[in-house]
Amino acid sequence: MDTPTLAVWKFASCDGCQLSLLDCEDDLLAVAGRVRIAHFLEASSDVLPGPYDISLVEGSITTPGDAERIRQVRAESRLLITIGACATAGGIQALRNQADITEYARAVYARPEYLRTLATSTPIAAHVDVDYELHGCPIDRRQLVETISALLAGRRPALPAHSVCFE
Ligand code: SF4
Repeated sequence: MDTPTLAVWKFASCDGCQLSLLDCEDDLLAVAGRVRIAHFLEASSDVLPGPYDISLVEGSITTPGDAERIRQVRAESRLLITIGACATAGGIQALRNQADITEYARAVYARPEYLRTLATSTPIAAHVDVDYELHGCPIDRRQLVETISALLAGRRPALPAHSVCFE
């Protein structure tokens, strides 16, 4: 049997949840022995083509390009897991959802006309089907390791029904 492949994808986020994955150290090494890391730009520029067995997705959707990209990621992924409050709920950047994005862009950027952005920041599940969600900001490392380990073993991950930080 081929070694399962793992891909990690970033959308609008601070990278903190991907860093949690890198912080797993020994646990991650144990997991890494059972998967092939096929796409994880935070850790390596080596990229293997899809399809991927497990995709971890960090970040929310804030641009038309990202709305298109997440559909491609979904099409290439057998299982898609969203990690963190940005990916599962839109993140702090979803504060824009109650504001006028044009006004914000004018206040922040010298040439806002070059900006290609959506008026909202939305969770990944608003765009594509999601198999599992890991909540938190950042995610809990033990939940991440449990999820990957369980899926590699062909069992359902033992996750709490709700995160402590209820979103
Ligand atoms: Fe960063 Fe929190 Fe978003 Fe994770 S959920 S990417 S830690 S802001």
